[in-house]
Amino acid sequence: MSAVDSHYLNYINGQWVEGEDDNLAVENPCSGEVVATQAMASNAQVDQAVQAAKRCHESRELIKMRPIERGRMIQRMAQYFLDNVDEIAQVLCLESGKPLWEAEMDTRSCANFLEYYGNQASTVEGKSIPLGDGYFDFTVHEPLGVSAQIIPWNFPLEITARGIGPALATGNACVVKSPELDPLSHKYFALAAEAAGLPTGALNVICGHGRTAGAALSSHPDINQMVFTGSVATGTAVAVEAAKNIVPCVLELGGKSAGIVYPDADLDKLEDSIRWGIFFNSGQVCSAFSRLVVHEDIYDEVVERATNVAQSISVDDGINLKEFGPTMGAMISMGQLERADGLVQNAIGQGARVTTGGSRYNRPGAFYQPTIFADVTPDMEINTTEVFGPVLSTLKFSADEEAYAIANGTDFGLVSGVFTQDLDRANRAARAMRAGQVYVNEWFAGGAETPFGGFGKSGYGREKGRDALYNYTATKNIGIAIG
Ligand code: NAD
Repeated sequence: MSAVDSHYLNYINGQWVEGEDDNLAVENPCSGEVVATQAMASNAQVDQAVQAAKRCHESRELIKMRPIERGRMIQRMAQYFLDNVDEIAQVLCLESGKPLWEAEMDTRSCANFLEYYGNQASTVEGKSIPLGDGYFDFTVHEPLGVSAQIIPWNFPLEITARGIGPALATGNACVVKSPELDPLSHKYFALAAEAAGLPTGALNVICGHGRTAGAALSSHPDINQMVFTGSVATGTAVAVEAAKNIVPCVLELGGKSAGIVYPDADLDKLEDSIRWGIFFNSGQVCSAFSRLVVHEDIYDEVVERATNVAQSISVDDGINLKEFGPTMGAMISMGQLERADGLVQNAIGQGARVTTGGSRYNRPGAFYQPTIFADVTPDMEINTTEVFGPVLSTLKFSADEEAYAIANGTDFGLVSGVFTQDLDRANRAARAMRAGQVYVNEWFAGGAETPFGGFGKSGYGREKGRDALYNYTATKNIGIAIG
């Protein structure tokens, strides 16, 4: 039986509400068929959501709670996702085009973030500062207030959980704007909030167009924080609007991440990293392994291995891909596919050599071939521009400094990697690379527990791990003069 409703509502102030903008038809990118319609919030409804969160914050209901109780509430939300994983994954699969097994992973990862931050709620401690006999001085970490969160379409559940988890754990109230391309599965955050007994207004979930509802949220004078994941252009616009109200932002804006491969690397393990790093979610991952910087002695062998990995991957309608395996679904939309294909064709025009792939599949739906480029040079557009598709560039180096320069030679700085058996060499490379996280011998090494964020145009602030908790709080110092 299908888990999908025909129409999805917004959730404001604990109520399920119709939109005041035209409904949006959400399509399955594997087939182009309409999955369901989504109610779209007007600017007035964005304001209602912000006011609901503000009332919740000012009621101090979340703040007065013992943190361990707040944490248990967030863990109950995690449990809701786990209890309903099959249904939720089906909805996410249909609206996003990703394989069902990947949608299930996204749902479990969402639960993981909520569980992790539920656990952290009672660990946010201040400190006592000695000022001599006449004073008792201590700090507390207070919630900022209304945390506004604008979500992209690539991992809608995981990215929302990694934002609302620490926000709620530290006592903030949230307004989440879901992505237009796959907003439907966001319904489950509201259901989880109800099941967990969150106070009214603590979590508001709305969908709306970026240029209207998104802009209204980021420029709203009553938000106290902006958390944004998406493109550099939109992130810039959002940060400018927030700055006008002196609202702090966390920006996570993508990357063009490189892994340096030395001759002593375990190439079988490297193949595994290539499979996950660039073909998971059809390469629509901000931290994708989009560039291999390979030592000249093993360049030809690595290109051949990467080509074999790409050719081992088959594509199908996401809903048919139930079992974990070497499979890919569709990209999120024909628009994203055409953008990726434009970059691929430009790269060919600039002299990059396609060893496999290089075009869309000859079938309906937004399916793009796993693509490997050889002979990419640092000056090419494909070396510096995020494709956000299943496209890997390979470049050659001979000396360490040259490899670091290639890896660091983009405006981004999200993640990077190094593949070698020599820990000294790995450490030197890790220190030299301008990136928020470095993966040694395994792409994506890390998890909900490890801080994540960028340098340069990859953004600022850190998500994940305990570091993220402090993005959602302000330090208050209380100095007491004693008798
Ligand atoms: P986007 O930045 O346009 O959209 C992300 C979110 O921002 C959506 O919820 C959208 O509604 C909202 N938005 C759009 N315009 C807005 C505005 N003016 N004010 C406030 N909110 C606004 O990204 P996209 O169009 O979905 O994807 C385009 C590119 O973004 C991709 O090709 C990729 O490079 C990048 N991207 C990066 C990530 C990431 O994880 N870093 C995720 C998705 C997309």
